Amino acid sequence: MKMSSMMPDVREVLISNQEIQAKVRSLGERITEDYAGERILLVGVLRGAVVVMGDLMRCIDLPCEIDFMDISSYGSGTSSSGVVRILKDLDEDITGRHVLIVEDIVDTGLTLSYLKRSLLARKPASLEICALLTKPSRRRVQFDIKYLGFEVPDEFVVGYGLDYAGVYRNLPDICILKEEVFKTGS
Ligand code: 5GP
Repeated sequence: MKMSSMMPDVREVLISNQEIQAKVRSLGERITEDYAGERILLVGVLRGAVVVMGDLMRCIDLPCEIDFMDISSYGSGTSSSGVVRILKDLDEDITGRHVLIVEDIVDTGLTLSYLKRSLLARKPASLEICALLTKPSRRRVQFDIKYLGFEVPDEFVVGYGLDYAGVYRNLPDICILKEEVFKTGS
């Protein structure tokens, strides 16, 4: 594959697309086994989860629907406060359904713990979490991530759906940017 034109901004490729694809395949296989005989609803959190959602759903061999939520944290700057505003709610009624939240990254966990509470109040038959990445050293709220891709260090990562200032989501790998990118705000 031709190298991305964004690579000069990258300090380090943390997880290659090949490793991501292998992991997503194995998560899809586990989900397929665990929910055998059921119909599931994948709930993606916009916008970061769009890429993993697209790959994951094609690795799940079950009748599967998708829906999306858009939420924004009332935090200041890059830190999440845990108070979340729903910008776009689900179109589907999840009562009595098997719901799997699909997230790009769990950082402090505040956003997802709020989302989980909000969805549980709607009485789904089951509610589990699939997250591609987590930063264990930053976690402030503990909950189980049943389907987890990778643990990453406390670094700001981009690519495979994750952005910085709205861009880099289409980088195929999970990457760490060079310091100067944050300074110039490219
Ligand atoms: P939490 O509430 O778990 O602290 O925040 C989770 C959200 O913060 C993620 O869905 C993501 O939007 C954002 N986030 C946390 N860490 C990173 C990171 O390293 N890179 C990017 N691009 N977003 C991050």
